[in-house]
Amino acid sequence: MKIADIRAENRDIRYECDEIICHVLNTDRAGLLMRLHTELEDDRYECIMHGLTCLKSGEPLQYILKKAPFFNRDFYVEDGVLIPRYDTECLVELSLDVLKNKSTFADICCGSGCIGITLLCENDGLFGALLDISPKALKVSGINSERFGVEKRCSISHFDVMKKAFWDTLGKFDVILSNPPYIPSGDIPTLSKTVLREPIIALDGGEDGMDFYKKIIEYSTGHFNDKVNIIFEIGYDEGEKMRALASSFGLLCEIRRDMNGCDRVALLNER
Ligand code: GLN
Repeated sequence: MKIADIRAENRDIRYECDEIICHVLNTDRAGLLMRLHTELEDDRYECIMHGLTCLKSGEPLQYILKKAPFFNRDFYVEDGVLIPRYDTECLVELSLDVLKNKSTFADICCGSGCIGITLLCENDGLFGALLDISPKALKVSGINSERFGVEKRCSISHFDVMKKAFWDTLGKFDVILSNPPYIPSGDIPTLSKTVLREPIIALDGGEDGMDFYKKIIEYSTGHFNDKVNIIFEIGYDEGEKMRALASSFGLLCEIRRDMNGCDRVALLNER
């Protein structure tokens, strides 16, 4: 079998098909085009076919390729961690701004580590605590911290947002940031087949999607070096709910929009 034949059979998924071929052949697009008409070795052919079968069954391309681009870096990902989203780059940009003259942050529900690790890469004066309940997330964050050479500036630990006992072990930070699960439980069944391959615990934010925000705001009291400084990613339709929640805790709330004009990031501060 030749690459040209595989591509012809998968015209409707040309981009994903090419990505899988490049991954298996460990080459780029130019390399792929040069080999279009050479016969593939059996094992490589099998690997490509396996990848295409997984893709067609709804497995996200990023899990097949074991990587996802985020803020100009390829993060390692695998089945069991949330795939970094382009939308989240907005949170990173804002956090970099807020952390300009500061030195410590906690990234709560760190997942693949894409947020915290990007911050450490972009600002070498920072130290971060990356926290997650999922052992898989901690493993993947560890791999990424080493991939980008920031492992000496971060701690990666098991953490349950909902349990006060975990908070009691936590120190103080300049900023606490988080992209927690925030999709209302009732909306989970409406997600696409591909998104549903991702860990539900990274998506399901409880009845109104706000469970994690509430706990983080409540329990983070006393965990700031100076004033309360929280940065959250929020759902496109959660701006109003977040304003109300912040105000119920007596906090100021500023909502920023993403590139698509959707509410995406909330900055919470003391009055
Ligand atoms: N933005 C993600 C999605 O739409 C949700 C991520 C999250 O819940 N933190 O799939």
